[in-house]
Amino acid sequence: MQQILHSINDFNEAKQVIPGGVNSPVRAFNSVGGTPRFIKEAKGAYIIDEDNNAYIDFVQSYGPLILGHSHEVVIEILKNAIEKGLSYGAPTELETNLAKEIISICEGVEKIRLVNSGTEATMSAIRLARAFSGKDDIIKFEGCYHGHSDSLLVKSGSGLATFGQTSSKGVITDIAKHTLVAKYNDLDSVKHCLTLSNNIGAIIIEPIAGNMGLVPATKDFLQGLREICDKEHIVLILDEVMSGFRASLKGSYPYHNVIGDLSTYGKVIGGGMPLAAFGGRAEIMDMLSPLGSVYQAGTLSGNPIAVSAGLATLVEIQKDRGLYARLESLAKRFVDGLCDRAKRYHIPLQTCVRGSMVGFFFTQHEVLDWESASKSDTKLYAQFHAKMLEKGVNFAPSQFETSFICAAFDENIIDSVLEKIDESFKEITH
Ligand SMILES: *Cc1c(COP(=O)(O)O)cnc(C)c1O
Repeated sequence: MQQILHSINDFNEAKQVIPGGVNSPVRAFNSVGGTPRFIKEAKGAYIIDEDNNAYIDFVQSYGPLILGHSHEVVIEILKNAIEKGLSYGAPTELETNLAKEIISICEGVEKIRLVNSGTEATMSAIRLARAFSGKDDIIKFEGCYHGHSDSLLVKSGSGLATFGQTSSKGVITDIAKHTLVAKYNDLDSVKHCLTLSNNIGAIIIEPIAGNMGLVPATKDFLQGLREICDKEHIVLILDEVMSGFRASLKGSYPYHNVIGDLSTYGKVIGGGMPLAAFGGRAEIMDMLSPLGSVYQAGTLSGNPIAVSAGLATLVEIQKDRGLYARLESLAKRFVDGLCDRAKRYHIPLQTCVRGSMVGFFFTQHEVLDWESASKSDTKLYAQFHAKMLEKGVNFAPSQFETSFICAAFDENIIDSVLEKIDESFKEITH
């Protein structure tokens, strides 16, 4: 039996001083039950908790750690960076280098600004899009997550496509009503939004949704969005905070060839440090202060330690030419094995792979949007999650998160996980 006494104590203590004991809600295990493991260190494919249990980690900090935990080169560069000071409040060459690196890789990004979180990146991109288009309303898609700014904590009401309702207490209804919510992969619902408002200035989308589980937008859908945006003078914001440098080096682009007017990045570009960015057409980006009249700022934006971690990560992933192909083949090996076992135990399953991103849903129906994703068997997922954790494998504590393959994974690790999945399915079904 696995010992988790330290985690149990730590969680109880944390709850005295931190709401729910966590600094981001999914970590509290509310949707699967059980006790979150308190982590003391991590290396490569593994995280180790305060009771010294090791887990093969499919969470990888929810995406940033494409090279795995504590990658030697990244850590070495950070050690050197730290000696030179933690923050200056003045520009550095490092920031220009990271900007150039991202611009050289990402389609449609001519200028970029660095921020501290994905939330900030999308919030700022939307402000900029509203200023550029001169229109206040935006469209987002049900099931997509873009961080927790007020305009984006909005869910659909009933019906095909609607004015948004707040999805969190404390968000002002008057703000939420400027966000229309459309159905993912459904152009008709976007067209319907356009009949509800003639004041739509931006459409924001995860081109590969990773926050309702993994649900990619179809090529036709994204190309249709691009056409609508061009015709209606709407700024298209591709939120690649998760898919950027994950689905491929160029993020989601090779899957659809659609270029956003603005794009947002985070997770991988910070290599595990708090760093994100928004960028796009120079004409739009130059509206930002100090050049233009759209205000946006940050005391720690472009922080030298975070930028060093991001740069080191982007350099490393490009050095290793075969990296994305290898990660994708491991992802496919995992998903194929998972499907075999699900069949063996008559467990309904849908799967999806995009580069190093892996999605699996316990449902027999094809998943195309939030409506179909939400039909998944979350009770079964909770059982699966608990069984796997007991056996030393860490999946995200929610059916609706993406799993990540990192460079520290190999075929042996995948195969050992598949064996544990077999045991777990057997225990669950017998
Ligand atoms: C994680 C994520 C965000 C939010 O980023 P934070 O750094 O958590 O604020 C925004 N958009 C997408 C697509 C994400 O996956």
